Amino acid sequence: MIVDGHNDLVLQTWRGKPPKHMDLSAAADADFAGGFFAIYVPSPDPPGEPPPIPYALPLPARIPTDEAARVANELYDTLQSLPVSFATSADDFEPGRVTAIVHLEGADPLAPDLSDLQDWYDRGLRSIGLVWSRANAFAEGVPFCFPASPDTGPGLTDAGRELVRACNRLGILVDLSHLNEAGFWDVAETSEAPLVATHSNAHALSPATRNLTDEQLDAIGRSGGMVGVNFAVSFLREDGWNNADTPLEEIVRHVDYISNRIGIDHVGFGSDFDGALVSEHLGGIAGLPKLVGALRDAGYDDAAVDKITHGNWLRIFRETWR
Ligand code: ZN
Repeated sequence: MIVDGHNDLVLQTWRGKPPKHMDLSAAADADFAGGFFAIYVPSPDPPGEPPPIPYALPLPARIPTDEAARVANELYDTLQSLPVSFATSADDFEPGRVTAIVHLEGADPLAPDLSDLQDWYDRGLRSIGLVWSRANAFAEGVPFCFPASPDTGPGLTDAGRELVRACNRLGILVDLSHLNEAGFWDVAETSEAPLVATHSNAHALSPATRNLTDEQLDAIGRSGGMVGVNFAVSFLREDGWNNADTPLEEIVRHVDYISNRIGIDHVGFGSDFDGALVSEHLGGIAGLPKLVGALRDAGYDDAAVDKITHGNWLRIFRETWR
């Protein structure tokens, strides 16, 4: 069974486009049981695919809360229209059906006084990425740069710290992917839950701002958290090249690095399906068994494969949700 840290099927569907990777009719055969489904309010001027390296794209402008909330509600309706059920417990994930974690990628739609957070929770929200890179009332994320450090700007605002505490109280997972390094350490200091980056890689192997330094990985390990390895080729490759002709072993290389550094209990998948360019040798959901085969070829036994493909995510849900 495969549980995954990130996909953008909702945005793709909201835009009226067919899925590139998230063909749910392939889920049963590929043993794909769902995972985090992002509600991501796009910028009017999206950065698009990374250009040739080196690159340093500026952060898109903030989106006013009212406008972000209007679009987020449309995206939520889109998610409800998909053939998935919403997760409120780790036990909801079962082979043979697709279960979606309602995940807000960027807290831009939330009122800065958090007056609508309970309502979102009641509608099924169980995970919040404080930012999708673009700054908002709570935090600031990394601009897309390569090669570059993730230490790119200021940390959490007071409202951001309040949001982390409120998530801890309600049992909402706080996602660190896209956050800049100062914000990462503010969450590490504030949160009582395991630290989670749903779709990020090892900066030591691919020095994109979106990836995690060794010190960040160590903090995630110490907290009992985990990293979902992102299949975006531009965050996997040492050269940052956005080239679909990238072997699956690049994903395995990041799994190896993270498990060697912080342990096999702290790594899983965070595909970024329908949100990024992934290896043409993987394709989408239908190619996942090939990736599991690549893990086995690299020496991972049944117990390790179970942890990477779903066991670690389910443990995080048990420890984070109420
Ligand atoms: Zn993302």
